Amino acid sequence: MRPRIFGIFASFLLLTACSPAPEQKNSASPPIGIVIHGGAGTILRENMTPEIEAAYRETLAEAIRVGYTLLKNGASSQEAVEKTIHVMEDSPLFNAGKGAVLTADETIELDASFMNGATLDAGAISGVKKVKHPISAAIKVMENSPHVMLSGQGADQFASEQGLEIVEPSYFFTERRINSLKRVKEAEEQTLSSAQTSLYLRNQRYGTVGCVALDAKGNLAAGTSTGGMTNKKWNRIGDAPIIGAGTYANNATCAISATGWGEYFIRSVVAHDISALMEYKGLSIQEASRIVIHEKVAALGGDGGIVGIDNRGNIAMEMNTPGMYRAHMDSEGTLTVKIFQDE
Ligand code: ASP
Repeated sequence: MRPRIFGIFASFLLLTACSPAPEQKNSASPPIGIVIHGGAGTILRENMTPEIEAAYRETLAEAIRVGYTLLKNGASSQEAVEKTIHVMEDSPLFNAGKGAVLTADETIELDASFMNGATLDAGAISGVKKVKHPISAAIKVMENSPHVMLSGQGADQFASEQGLEIVEPSYFFTERRINSLKRVKEAEEQTLSSAQTSLYLRNQRYGTVGCVALDAKGNLAAGTSTGGMTNKKWNRIGDAPIIGAGTYANNATCAISATGWGEYFIRSVVAHDISALMEYKGLSIQEASRIVIHEKVAALGGDGGIVGIDNRGNIAMEMNTPGMYRAHMDSEGTLTVKIFQDE
């Protein structure tokens, strides 16, 4: 009996070794995904030329492809978020890095934050004037300092000591933002009612950038970078560099990057609230985002939007404004780029 059993066992082993490996189905590989935004606000078809619209769509597609390719090749969600945001920080189209809005003193003050969903580590900078890529400064704060947030001159100095690229303040200036500041100041000088002024200011904002990603190891990351709001005074800081408000990531739930009227997003603790609704109430990322943006932020009078991704690759792109520059790439590399709310 024994030799026979051994023979059967040996031929089974041989068969297993020689048969071709079963084909890997896409659905069997762990999901990856990436979502970006380039700001939310009163983005209307009638205010946009076909050339400008095409430029936004192309740059969004270019940025997200950078992150997607990294994820596809096994890079971490942290790297994908950082490199994707670099593309948007380098583009004068967005209110982040080059092309950032101007303060009342005609200077630039940049804010950014990053969060790693696997470790819950986070880093942020606010009011920097010389760092070419503020998102990288936020990541360096997370990795190489004992702190979470640095501001002003100290943050610029830290970024320089970390070997990040430092540029002259003039690098960030664009004619478009110089003109926006002029227009906001003129509006301020006219005796507009406070409701008109706030509507005007609201329309002068947008272009903040953000990215959330899920990598093949199941790790989530989120990052946000902005110049803040045109004509800001007194070293005003918005939600973008505030962990929990503008940015949040937790492998147990989701990664979120927000854009909008920062004061309302801070008060609503938007990014963390979406994660909390998922964690404590078991809501989906879409339902949690809808409640926070359309019910909670809107009830306070705030406007804006978020992009988010959960730990299975489900996404949310939610706004209560007429538009939000946004794009998504899923595991299969299907690209979606949208601008207007009704797309
Ligand atoms: N949230 C940014 C801020 O308040 C601005 C924006 O997203 O458009 O600074």
